[in-house]
Amino acid sequence: MRAVVFERYGEPAEVREVADPRPAPHGVVVRVEATGLCRSDWHGWQGHDPGITLPHVPGHELAGVVEAVGERVTAWRPGDRVTVPFVCACGTCAACAAGDQQVCERQTQPGFTHWGSFAQYVALDHADVNLVAVPEDMPFATAASLGCRFATAFRAVVQQGRVAAGEWVAVHGCGGVGLSAVMIAAASGARVVAVDVSPAALELARTFGAARCVDAARTEDTAAAVRELTGGGAHLSLDALGSPATCAASVDGLRRRGRHVQVGLLPSASGTTPVPMARVIALELELLGSHGMAAHTYPPMLELVRSGALRPDLLVTATLPLDAAPAALAALGTAPGAGMTVIEPWS
Ligand SMILES: [Zn+2]
Ligand SMILES: [Zn+2]
Repeated sequence: MRAVVFERYGEPAEVREVADPRPAPHGVVVRVEATGLCRSDWHGWQGHDPGITLPHVPGHELAGVVEAVGERVTAWRPGDRVTVPFVCACGTCAACAAGDQQVCERQTQPGFTHWGSFAQYVALDHADVNLVAVPEDMPFATAASLGCRFATAFRAVVQQGRVAAGEWVAVHGCGGVGLSAVMIAAASGARVVAVDVSPAALELARTFGAARCVDAARTEDTAAAVRELTGGGAHLSLDALGSPATCAASVDGLRRRGRHVQVGLLPSASGTTPVPMARVIALELELLGSHGMAAHTYPPMLELVRSGALRPDLLVTATLPLDAAPAALAALGTAPGAGMTVIEPWS
């Protein structure tokens, strides 16, 4: 098969022929029809993820068709249209037994713990626990977003953030996860304040339902701007970028008893992140983490997509062939872009 391979961190990846993957007894091989470019792929390429060994194939936000199944797989057959949460669970540890597959103790992640989906085929472990059926009428490019950004945002806003209609929700950082979060919060009846340094990202946020926008490039104190726009602070606030500055601004922009959800990755390379804990105590704030989403919790989200209340299809702004993936991966560092770029390995 053809795959995007890198031999050294930060040096150009290249498309080359490599051996086809084979399914584990509990796993499947999926023919990759679409795979999104995510900033986590860029972090992995830069060497920020200790789980990666070289040479490596990135890619974790995918959809496609089951090509081959291991002998212990019972729920899936070749030809099934599927996506998968990027956190693939073992199905048997204590976290999995409690229904919390998104924090599985023995999780695997395609594109991090093993070769990923910037390739024509990808191997996925514990298929019966992790695969999610993609409806016939959903394009693969749209379904790919359900593997990372859209599901991650859904868990952050709905499952961890417990959004309620009428609340003010601040979203700091309007990249892939942030824009998805704006759409999901607005569809939940919340009033959304979008914060970003990019006018193009804020324009998309407005399209996706943001009631107010804060241009962080022209605003000295974004937390103060959020408190002002929301009459005292957001009920729920997300750091969807992952930086010490946006994390602190998210916490500082909350009202009393507000909830902060950290969903943007804070790679260990940038050190430990300071949090304004005095405000957390005085205002009785809640600090929550959010990490992917368990496959068994996808049905309510898929139902909202089916009904048209949520439109992940609107996130997809560009599709590229595999040959364009190495340059697009490198460009994520300097120009993350406002929409979702999808690689189609067979085009
Ligand atoms: Zn991702
Ligand atoms: Zn587990």
